[in-house]
Amino acid sequence: MKSEDVTNHTRCRFCGTSLRHTFVDLGMSPLCESYVSYDQLNQMEAFYPLHVRVCTHCFLVQLDEYVSPENIFTEYAYFSSYSDSWLQHAKEYTEMIVDRFRLEGRSHVVEVASNDGYLLQYFIPKGIPVLGIEPAKNVANAAIEKGIPTLVEFFGEELAHELAQEGKHADLLIGNNVLAQVPGLNDFVEGMKILLKPQGIITMEFPHLMRLMEENQFDTIYHEHFSYFSFITVEKIFAKHGLTIFDVEELPTHGGSLRIYACHEGDTSKERGQRAIELRAREKKANFDTLETYFTFGEKVKETKRKLLEFLISAKRQNKSIVGYGAPGKGNTLLNYCGIRTDFIDYTVDRNPYKQGKFLPGTHIPIFHPDKISETRPDYLLILPWNLKEEIMNQMSYIREWGGQFVVPIPELTVY
Ligand SMILES: [Zn+2]
Repeated sequence: MKSEDVTNHTRCRFCGTSLRHTFVDLGMSPLCESYVSYDQLNQMEAFYPLHVRVCTHCFLVQLDEYVSPENIFTEYAYFSSYSDSWLQHAKEYTEMIVDRFRLEGRSHVVEVASNDGYLLQYFIPKGIPVLGIEPAKNVANAAIEKGIPTLVEFFGEELAHELAQEGKHADLLIGNNVLAQVPGLNDFVEGMKILLKPQGIITMEFPHLMRLMEENQFDTIYHEHFSYFSFITVEKIFAKHGLTIFDVEELPTHGGSLRIYACHEGDTSKERGQRAIELRAREKKANFDTLETYFTFGEKVKETKRKLLEFLISAKRQNKSIVGYGAPGKGNTLLNYCGIRTDFIDYTVDRNPYKQGKFLPGTHIPIFHPDKISETRPDYLLILPWNLKEEIMNQMSYIREWGGQFVVPIPELTVY
């Protein structure tokens, strides 16, 4: 077992135990969504530690709150609607959930971190009333323009009480890719408990720690992601707030996510599903309730860095040109951790106009419109959002015309 780091005094955000064991240390990194404008290029840039620890008591893998959510999320560059496959995912979810739980015109659907309305927009044609809650004003405004009622607020107990007093309880309470992003985990889950109708259901999606570890997805670690959940740990957190997870699905999104279904502890109308029992057993078999399991990850991450640099150095020695595809948060963790700048990658492209004309944080790699690729005809296209690699390789298949190849760095460097 690794020796304890007695110098660290931060505490587990769920159970309060001192955090003295490293999961992985990715060094110093800027906030991964702080894209740099041309005018800011000559200015100082803030870097924060990306040092992830694991709790010896509840096994919650977590990052300190180095930066407050107010600084991260008030102007957020991530618009969910720019990904076709994510929209498709949202649409399929809506069909499934409306059917499974018989939602109709008298139901109330609330989504926390509703982003630009990428999901709630599919409930509207069905005549089901919705409410979005989204702290980033710029993305919330995009939802409001689409006609989706949206509160520009952070969610927690306080807001839940206010909404409950106004009679805005939820039959369906949704939170996708938000549980990892809340520093006050207990406040957030308690808020969900308060806002949920007696027979309402909660569904939440978040990246699954087991997949992150098995598939080496260390680049999904960034300052915005405070917590990394196994199923057994999230069950403990919900149970503490009087919520029972009665079903779970494993999804391919974001490299492998869980979709949990929760209800009030005393709600006997929901059948306890086999999938939850099976997943709990699988995690226990993989020793997710043993501290040593969490110590193997750090070395795997270092080896990934060595392999990626080996490839890039060798390609540059052969005078090959390499450009990036995408400017996702995960790309910035990868590039900063590996020290990859314009010495290896000439530029990257992104379909999101908000990012075009800007530069990646830390590495200052310029971001262009995807058309730039057919102009410069690079030898290699490094796909940064590897979770969308199929979609991107289809869209960009024309690079084959000049002999271009795709490179995917995670889970292990592969050239297509
Ligand atoms: Zn803990």
